[in-house]
Formats: sequence, C-alpha cells, structure tokens
Amino acid sequence: MSELSKLREQICTLAKSIFDRGLTGGASGNISVRLDDGGILVTPTGSSMGQLDPARLTQLDHTGRIVSGDAPTKEIPLHSAFYETRSETGAVVHLHSTHSVALSMLPDTDPENAIPPLTAYSIMRLGKVKLLPFFVPGDPAMGQAIRGLAGKRSAVLLANHGPVVAGKDLEAAIYATEELEETAKLALLTHGRNPIGLSDAQIVQVVKKYGIDYTS
Ligand code: ZN
Repeated sequence: MSELSKLREQICTLAKSIFDRGLTGGASGNISVRLDDGGILVTPTGSSMGQLDPARLTQLDHTGRIVSGDAPTKEIPLHSAFYETRSETGAVVHLHSTHSVALSMLPDTDPENAIPPLTAYSIMRLGKVKLLPFFVPGDPAMGQAIRGLAGKRSAVLLANHGPVVAGKDLEAAIYATEELEETAKLALLTHGRNPIGLSDAQIVQVVKKYGIDYTS
C-alpha cells in the first residue's frame, strides 16, 4: 500500500473512532493532513466522520485545486489558516464536541486561556487555547481570525461551534483535540465548585520540562 493510501485509511479509521465515541455528530467535523507535495488531503463536505470512504477524501494541490475526490469541507479556511501560519503543522482537526462548545458559552471562560490548566497534558498538548468569537459557518473571517494569531496558538475554540487544533501529524492533532474536549469536560464537571487546578509553580514545572510556549 502506498503512503498516500495508508494516510487515507488512517484518516477514516481515526475519524470513525471520534464519531463512535460521540466526539462529533451527524455530518459535523473535518480533518486534513498536509502532503509532501504541499497539497492537502481533507474530508469532503457533508460527510459523516463515521462513514468516510478513503477513495472519496478530497485531495487538493498546493494551490487549493481539487486533484481527486469529492468537494472539500466548506470549513477549509480553518485548516489552510493553520498551514499558512504554522509551518510545523502536519494535520488539523475540527470537531463540534459538546463539552468544548459548552465551555465556549460560559461568561467566565477566559478568551485568552479558554481551557483552564487543570491537568499537565492539556498544557503539554495544547498550550493556551484562544477563544474566538462566533462566526456564521462558512464565513472566511474564521480563517482570518486564525491568521491573526500569527501562528502563536496551535488550538482555538470557536464560540458556539467547536475546537480547531493543529498538530505535527494526524495522531498528534487528534490526541490534542481529545485532550481539549476531555479538559473542557473536567472544567464543566468542576465548574462552580472551586476546583484545585495546577498552581502557577506547577505550570512552570510542566512548561519548562516539556518546552511549551505558555506565554502568548
Ligand atoms: Zn464546524
């Protein structure tokens, strides 16, 4: 099997796993992976993550032209914005995951650090997650908002919509997105109960040991 075929299979397998665990429902959510030639492989518009067909994934060349497959997700600006501003990005995942969306709607969620530092892994996999405002689906301003972060964040949370997470490869992007959703769930479970999150000193220890940018 070619590398490209393996990648197609991997996208479908991981997407089904996400769907089966209820991390995004219906035809929501999309995944992309950057290819060696500068193009990307991305999930098609209107497709369910639970029933992707490897042969129908959309392959785009480096100019965004369709090489093969169905029409791409209309949320493609979310993906291209990360590839353009973070050169180390190998994959981008966007979900409509329940707890993340719920957290995005709470008035005391910090827009600069929307996922509170409750566990070390959320810091290690996500850094600080920026809360972006609500946009009408398909509005290219969503991509512009991510470009406006100038590559300083690897994960954002779109208000009333869901997370968009970049990683060095597909597994890294998927695992980081899962960490975001699980930490949002913890934040909701403990909301209003004065949870003891990581102290500033503990955060510094994690950030230092794993070389995480937790400043911007
Ligand atoms: Zn969406």
